[in-house]
Order: sequence, then structure tokens, then C-alpha cells
Amino acid sequence: MSLLRSFVQDADARDPLARFRDRFVISSGSIYMDGNSLGRLPSSAVARASELLEKGWGEKLVEGWHEWIDFPTQIGDQIAGLIGAGKSEVIVCDSTSVNLFKLAMAAVGSKPHRGAIVTDSANFPSDQYVLHGVAHQTGRELRRFESDPIQGPDIGSLAMALDDDVALVSLSHVGYKNASLADMEAITRAVHDAGALMLWDLCHSVGALPIDVEGCGVDLAVGCTYKYLNAGPGAPAFLYVRRELHDQLRQPIWGWFGQREQFRMNLDYDPEPGIGSFMVGTPPIVSMVGVEEGVRLILEAGIESLRIKSIEMTQMMIALHDEWLAPLGVELASPREADRRGSHLAFRHPDGYRICKALIEKLDVIPDFREPDIIRYAVAPIYTTFTEAWDAMERLRTCIDEELYADLLEDRDRVT
Ligand SMILES: *Cc1c(COP(=O)(O)O)cnc(C)c1O
Repeated sequence: MSLLRSFVQDADARDPLARFRDRFVISSGSIYMDGNSLGRLPSSAVARASELLEKGWGEKLVEGWHEWIDFPTQIGDQIAGLIGAGKSEVIVCDSTSVNLFKLAMAAVGSKPHRGAIVTDSANFPSDQYVLHGVAHQTGRELRRFESDPIQGPDIGSLAMALDDDVALVSLSHVGYKNASLADMEAITRAVHDAGALMLWDLCHSVGALPIDVEGCGVDLAVGCTYKYLNAGPGAPAFLYVRRELHDQLRQPIWGWFGQREQFRMNLDYDPEPGIGSFMVGTPPIVSMVGVEEGVRLILEAGIESLRIKSIEMTQMMIALHDEWLAPLGVELASPREADRRGSHLAFRHPDGYRICKALIEKLDVIPDFREPDIIRYAVAPIYTTFTEAWDAMERLRTCIDEELYADLLEDRDRVT
């Protein structure tokens, strides 16, 4: 028996988070299922950014820096509230890739006699390249282990790669393809038992589900702000360093924003104590207000409530997959257990790429495609409705059933 559209419309009517949708700019009728790639624009960010441009940059000019200089730590403290970190343990700066490089270099530098860095082969490409680069530049080996293609990395698969030569393990908390949610606590403990440091990439989990870095004993973490935190394209990322490590780790890019009393303009590098030493150069202030507004909205909605709604939505979509899509040759490539997955679902189909294109061009649904055959559907419970999720599934069924992709080409666009 099909889950009726009227049933999900009722769910929207009863949804306590429904009012947050109006806080976003929604200018077309398209169903947006790609909030894990680029979140929607909060209306308040438009006002904040134009105020910053006109009143800040336009009127205050360089005097604005008296206020802006504290943005990285102030907004970092707000993000700390989303990931279970303490005050002055998170800072907003640079991109995720650059922050990963800084923290990975700092971590291996603190373990000079250990010659390996570990990740799994399902980790995000930029993480692979950065970790490979760190290994290469420091004369280490990058060990990649194979994690389960659906369930993601766990202590069993990690154990194959872990020994007392490992300096650092770095993994994604939620897998970018399959949405597998790793057991942060158990994996971090296993890594510590081997005497290594643990660096988590929170890109696909921050803003989508509760995180407790402190409770899990996490050493280091990075994450981006333009996915579930809705901070805008290219908005700066964040990094977390456990307080006890602040003075033990030294990051590799010595810039003036990491310098103690930077405006003394001293000749020799003398890092700021604490999290500030992980900064490098001038932060992008216009984008920073996007981070602040995005984070503020997630905090206001409440990460626990968002997680509940996200699970309800993905659970419903899995039920619809089983009924509508599985008979058409679609395979669910995400964990079925709600507590093992993030806020998106991966559907595999041999014609996945053309199906994605047809959804965008003919059916007004915006998913994204990940090689080789994965259609990703993300729900961002702060603005995605149950009805949208239902409709997106129904249109996917129509697309495949009626082969609406048949006339499209396999040639990949530059951005998928
Ligand atoms: C999105 C994402 C990134 C993005 O890195 P940028 O430096 O912001 O381009 C990195 N790692 C993971 C796991 C991601 O999902």
C-alpha cells in the first residue's frame, strides 16, 4: 500500500519546524534535494551581508576591523555549540581542505616517529589528496583501508590498517556518497588505543545531526559551512582542536593572523596561545556573516528536532524506494538503520547520470550525481518539506519508469 501524498501533507501541517522554511529565499518551484552540496540562502543573510557591505565596508572602512577581528572566534564559539566543543576550541577560517592540511600536518608533526597516515578509500577526494600530500611531504605512507560500501568505516575494517606506526587517522563522520554515519566514539577510542590522533571531517554531519566531539574524545575536526549550515558558496570552514592539544600542536602555515599581537608586526613568528594559532591570513568577512546567520538558524531550530525530522523523512523515502524504485532496478546504497546514516540517501542505477540530468531538465527536481552511478537525494529538514521529499521520489519513479532520460547524453558536465 502506497504512502499517500495526503498523508505526507498532513505531516507537513503538523511539523513544528515548518515555520523555518519561510526564513529562506525560495525563488523557484523546483524541489531542491541538494542541500548537502550547497544549502539554501537564509533571508537574514541577505540583510546582514548588505548591511556589512554598505555600513561596514562602505562607511566604516578599515575601522570596521575593530569589530570584524573577533568574527572567527565568535562564530567558532557558536559552531562549538553544534558539535559539542567548548569555548575557544573552534575557529572559522580558510576552506575545509586547507584546514585539513593544517591539522594533519600539525598532528603528524607531533608524532615524529610514526610513519603512517590512515584513511578509508571511500573518503572524499579532497581529503584523499590532502592526506596523500601530507604523507608525501613528510615522508610518510598513506594507508587506505576498504570500508563497507554501504555501512562505511568501522573499527573492524579500520583494525586492518591500525598499528603502532600510525600517527593520524582521518575519516569522514558521514560518508559523502553513501551517507554512512561512523561510530565516532568507538573509532576515536580505537585510534587512541593505538597511540594515534583522530581527525574527523564533519562536512556532511554538522548541522544535520547532533555531534559530541568532547564526549567522544575527538582530537581534531574540520567541517564546511555551506552544506547543512547554509552559509553560502565558498563560505569559510571551521576547525576544532581539543584544548589540551592547543599548545602541543604547531600548524604549518605561519601567517600574521596566527601571530601573538599581530599588529606589533614583529619579525619572528610567535604563535598566539590557543585556537588562534590555527589561523593564517585575513578572513573573508562578507562570507563570515553568512556563516553566522546560517548557524544561528540551525541553533534556533534545534539540532535534535532537525535530526528527528530528517530521520522521519529519509525513513519515508526508503519505504517509497522499496515500493516504487527497487522493482525498477534502483538499489539503495545507504544504511537502512536510521542511526547509521546522515541526512541524504544514495540511490544507484546504471543510468544514474542521465537520470539526474532528466530530473533537473524535465522534472524540476535538483539532486546531484556522484560517480559512478549514484543519485544523491538530501533532505535539509530546516527547509525541505515532507511533500517535497515524496514528490522527489515520485518523479524519480516516473523518470525511470518512462525512461525520460533516454534522449540525454552520458557526457559529464564540468560540475555534477
Ligand atoms: C564538501 C566537502 C569538502 C569540501 O572541501 P572544500 O575545501 O570546502 O572545497 C571536504 N571534505 C568533505 C568530506 C566534504 O564533504
